[in-house]
Amino acid sequence: MSIDLGRSTSNGVPSAQPRIPLVGLNDGNAIPQLGFGVWQVENDEVVSAVTTAIEAGYRSIDTAEGYDNEMGVGRAVREASIDRDELFITSKLRTRLLGETEAVEGVKGSLKALGLDYLDMFLIHWPAPAHDRYVAAWQGLIRAREQGLVRSIGVSNFLPQHLERIIAETGVTPVVNQIETHPEFQQREIRAVLKRHDIQQESYSPLGSGAVLDNPEIGKIAEAHCKSPAQVIIRWHLQEGLIVIPKSVHEDRIRENLEVFDFELTDADMAAIAKLDRTPEGRTGSDPASFNDLW
Ligand code: NDP
Repeated sequence: MSIDLGRSTSNGVPSAQPRIPLVGLNDGNAIPQLGFGVWQVENDEVVSAVTTAIEAGYRSIDTAEGYDNEMGVGRAVREASIDRDELFITSKLRTRLLGETEAVEGVKGSLKALGLDYLDMFLIHWPAPAHDRYVAAWQGLIRAREQGLVRSIGVSNFLPQHLERIIAETGVTPVVNQIETHPEFQQREIRAVLKRHDIQQESYSPLGSGAVLDNPEIGKIAEAHCKSPAQVIIRWHLQEGLIVIPKSVHEDRIRENLEVFDFELTDADMAAIAKLDRTPEGRTGSDPASFNDLW
């Protein structure tokens, strides 16, 4: 199965459409490989951004309790011209709700803010290891899934030791680990661990929050394919087999970021991008080993 990008010709007959592939999850569900992120988009702006994204063809939206925009996301989803069951909505647990009962309440809080009766996926946003509450939170997400509040459960910003621990202590494996990943921070080391547990890697800040767009090597490859740097980077994620969730608030860029199914990076392109990794200096966000803020 793949997602229809929803284009039609002027006479209303569907045209030959690029399709967003679905990625199978270890619990039997599936997620679109390319989705839309909404971090740092205010509630009032997020309604039009998500509406534009859905109209352009995105079917997966990534929000979080901590983004304070679930109300706007939910409004756009509820008012969309397509059915709820064609969309894949993800939210994430804020760190101050790490804990078993708190996590169930967190899922319910997200549903209330979104105005939805289920989530497709819910993630622990950060492990905040100093507080040692992420295993309890994982037990809470297992309960929320059993209660039908959420269909798939996963984690974000988990290091191998955090993954191994929740799996060992609960017997339940997350479907994804959403982690910062882009050409300058490629997360090669964790991939074997994810593969061993059949956990999908979901790339957040896939453009390095914009920082990788000016990379000269990406620029050269973009020119050779008559594509933009953003399209080359998104295509790199897809060819690496990663789930990818770029963010933009501009309609032209929202649409541009979807136009990535009509070209292919060559082996030489992929090899050149592999050399751009600058781990750990290439990281643009916080380090999960030491991020312990409660918010
Ligand atoms: P991205 O890597 O997606 O980059 C977004 C930036 O690139 C914005 O400044 C945007 O500007 C710009 N941009 C997007 N498309 C284009 C384009 N075609 N041409 C030029 N500029 C472009 O950044 P994010 O950090 O937002 O990451 C994406 C998503 O990942 C988030 O929105 C969120 O959903 C998730 N995330 C999860 C985290 C976690 O801890 N789990 C942490 C960080 C992000 P503009 O909007 O002005 O167009």
